[in-house]
Amino acid sequence: MKKTCALLLPVAVALAMLPAVIGEPATDAPTRDRIKAALPDKAFAAPKEKRKLLVFSVTNGFRHGSIPTGQAALGMLGEQTGAYEAVVSNDLAHFESDRIGQFDAICFLNTTGDVFAPYAKGKKKEFDALPAAEKKAAEARAQRLFANLMAFVKGGKGFIGIHSATDTLYNQPEYGEMMNGYFWGHPWNAGTPVSIKVEPGQENHPIVKHLGGKNMDFKEEIYQLKDPYDSKKVRMLLRLDPTRSKMDVRGIKRTDADFGVSWIREWGEGRVFYCSLGHNDHIYWNPDVLKVYLGGIQWALGDWEVPVQ
Ligand SMILES: [Zn+2]
Repeated sequence: MKKTCALLLPVAVALAMLPAVIGEPATDAPTRDRIKAALPDKAFAAPKEKRKLLVFSVTNGFRHGSIPTGQAALGMLGEQTGAYEAVVSNDLAHFESDRIGQFDAICFLNTTGDVFAPYAKGKKKEFDALPAAEKKAAEARAQRLFANLMAFVKGGKGFIGIHSATDTLYNQPEYGEMMNGYFWGHPWNAGTPVSIKVEPGQENHPIVKHLGGKNMDFKEEIYQLKDPYDSKKVRMLLRLDPTRSKMDVRGIKRTDADFGVSWIREWGEGRVFYCSLGHNDHIYWNPDVLKVYLGGIQWALGDWEVPVQ
């Protein structure tokens, strides 16, 4: 008996230290403790059935250092509240038609660039050296996986975008339409003090009601979005408060001060939730932000009805 335990214990420890996705650094214990302390105790609504959320973080551009923290937070958020089971994976095969249907929603957590590209970042030379038939098949696969994602959402499932999900798939205008805009620089850098306000009139919206109409103040990289961004086409929930944020920053191109941060919208029969907060690690252990994430995710999963039109 003793011998068995002695053998099993190192295996258990090794498993606990394994990163969520091969190739990602493991989230350390202090980070997990901070997330745990910030998690909401319960879901906003009981899931109608067991829910599965794909948390996907392929990058074909900038790769955020906070991805492992975000992966841990979204995993723990589902586990703690019972709202969903997170499948943290960068495997493109999940977007194949025989696999995608197992998910109730897909989350692009800090993805960048063409996540379905026929070749990964820096691998163009290798791709070009492939036989023509292989290249053609890889290009067809990229188009197929994107089409599957669009059909998934429009067919009634959920899509969640965190932070650089809007710095993704510039080559697919339909994606930009669904997300409501593309990244257009971040005048507010990671270390800039910013204040995020509830969209006026939305103080009682269930996803942001816990804020009591109060601003969230922290240092965070805040995006400016370009076309097809249109804050009137979505149910805006959070935006940058220009009256309480540092505004003598460089790179502001929008002249209308319309800096939306989080919104929901319907897309076909499906539901899309976006929140641009998520550059810095501390965002993933901010109790107020985690509640916004949970509310948006539960709505996207189809378990929590909130006003959207
Ligand atoms: Zn960022």
